[in-house]
Amino acid sequence: MKAVYLTQPGTTSDVLTYVTDAPMPVITDDQVLVKVGATSVNRIDLVMRGGYPGLQTSYPHILGGDVAGTIEEVGAKVEGWNVGERIVAYPMVWCGNCALCNEGKHNLCVNWKYFGMHLPGGYAEYVAVPAKCLIALPEQLSFAQATALGVAGLTAYHGLTTVSGLQPGQTFMIWGGSGGLGTLAIQIAKHRGATVIATCGSEEKKQTLRDLGADVVFDHNTEAVFDEVKKLYPVGLDTVMDYVGPKTFQQSFDLLKKGGQLLLCGILTGRETNFSIHMTYLRHLSIKGLYLGTKAEMEELVGLVAAEMITPHIGDVLPLSAAAEAQDRLVTGRFTGKLVLQP
Ligand SMILES: [Zn+2]
Repeated sequence: MKAVYLTQPGTTSDVLTYVTDAPMPVITDDQVLVKVGATSVNRIDLVMRGGYPGLQTSYPHILGGDVAGTIEEVGAKVEGWNVGERIVAYPMVWCGNCALCNEGKHNLCVNWKYFGMHLPGGYAEYVAVPAKCLIALPEQLSFAQATALGVAGLTAYHGLTTVSGLQPGQTFMIWGGSGGLGTLAIQIAKHRGATVIATCGSEEKKQTLRDLGADVVFDHNTEAVFDEVKKLYPVGLDTVMDYVGPKTFQQSFDLLKKGGQLLLCGILTGRETNFSIHMTYLRHLSIKGLYLGTKAEMEELVGLVAAEMITPHIGDVLPLSAAAEAQDRLVTGRFTGKLVLQP
């Protein structure tokens, strides 16, 4: 089958190789074989490409947390799914046996496995997917749209619903709002009735973010974002979502209102930073880390898109063979919304 191999850890996209003779996945009794209709590139792919801290990876490895496609084969013990059905995969496999799974918190499973990280991912023509991870894809949604809802969309949705409980009338800010996560976070926050502040890297992208519903948009390359937000909201913001990391952490922290929440969901500029314990308690701040979300949340998000309450913003669709180019564009910011790959 066609696939993109990560041949070794590396900081540039030349460690990706497109092949047409990768072995087909062999499914177990509780899995289905999915013919990939689309996958997408995520920032976690870049982290994985460089060698994920603490994770043993065998090479060649197949990246890609998002899988949308058609069921091609059904395992012997799988019930309720048939060949030909359109699906999107919940991006995480949970064990069902650990203490957290037993508490019903399968998204926090200690034995979690993630497509493209612990498992072969979506940069391929076929992927073996446990049946428990399948979500039926309504016909209104394209495979490309569906790929926005797994890794990026689910993280945004989980962060803004269950984790922060963003309320109507509250203020929400995201740094880097023009990518797959940002374009959905803006819409989800607006759907929840919040006022949305977002940043991006060009005039053209600013207009896109306004069109998606952002109330206040800044170009973080040319504008003094921190000072401007402070001027507009001197008391501070209710919630800030930060996947950038050390580069923006202090500003995110200082922009929060007393009692505000900082949602951390990425390590784009590093893994560690300093902050004031004193200010954290004095200002009643909450710092909450998260990745992905629950399967039920992803089903809700699919439902919101099917009902046209939220629309994934697809920046571009490239052939799978152009995965290296797609990752380069992710690094340089030459895209808006979701970059999709199709085998
Ligand atoms: Zn578990």
